[in-house]
Amino acid sequence: MPRPILPTPAKHCAHCGAILERKRWANGWMESQALLERRTYCDRECGYAAMRRPSPTKHCAHCGRRLARVRWRNGKLESQALFERRIYCGRVCAYAAARKRRRLIQ
Ligand SMILES: [Zn+2]
Ligand SMILES: [Zn+2]
Repeated sequence: MPRPILPTPAKHCAHCGAILERKRWANGWMESQALLERRTYCDRECGYAAMRRPSPTKHCAHCGRRLARVRWRNGKLESQALFERRIYCGRVCAYAAARKRRRLIQ
């Protein structure tokens, strides 16, 4: 029995989830399969949007509130690296979680 030709598995845009399809360029050419396979986003806009918002949503390990990068009093935004290490929304939650841990140990 001849093996059926499997269709290439559908790829989805890493940002909006739309199915990626080979594009037809303005000059009438189709995008090559190799190019499509390297592509992660449906278009440039999604690529840019994803770059602007690179980190997945995080939630406070104590109260479950969504974490966002903090803007310091000097106007600077918390660095991405710092944000990624942070697990609590604020000092209050960090202290509360530490207190709880202490209580559990005693
Ligand atoms: Zn997209
Ligand atoms: Zn919290």
